[in-house]
Amino acid sequence: MHTVKFRETDNYMGRVPYGADLLEFLNTFMAENDIKAGQVTAIGAVSKAAVGYYDQDAQIYRDVVFDKHLEILNLTGNVSLKDGKPFVHAHATFSDEKGNTFGGHLTKGTKVFAGEFIVKAFACEPLDRVPDPDTGLALWRL
Ligand code: ZN
Repeated sequence: MHTVKFRETDNYMGRVPYGADLLEFLNTFMAENDIKAGQVTAIGAVSKAAVGYYDQDAQIYRDVVFDKHLEILNLTGNVSLKDGKPFVHAHATFSDEKGNTFGGHLTKGTKVFAGEFIVKAFACEPLDRVPDPDTGLALWRL
């Protein structure tokens, strides 16, 4: 069994405050609203973007920082539990003034200029992240 069935419960729409760290804001939002399973999407703009690229051979995340003003074309992610706390795993695509796109696995350090997000909370047994020996990642226990 590699899936879990769920029903949506509460949905939220909101703004990410100016100057907020995007990932920290989303993690705090989930904790404050007791969301342990769900989906998150967002659009907006950032003054700086920080993402990770997973080096599959070394099994570590390599930091990639775009220290410039960018649009958030898309952020999509999920919410589950890691170490017993709500944990947002999100990937984002950004664009610059020429329409070039950048992106990756969202990490701390992304500074929001303006952001709009939608969260869908799921009613199900929350998935728990545990170390996976094949990948070195913290993957869902299923
Ligand atoms: Zn990722």
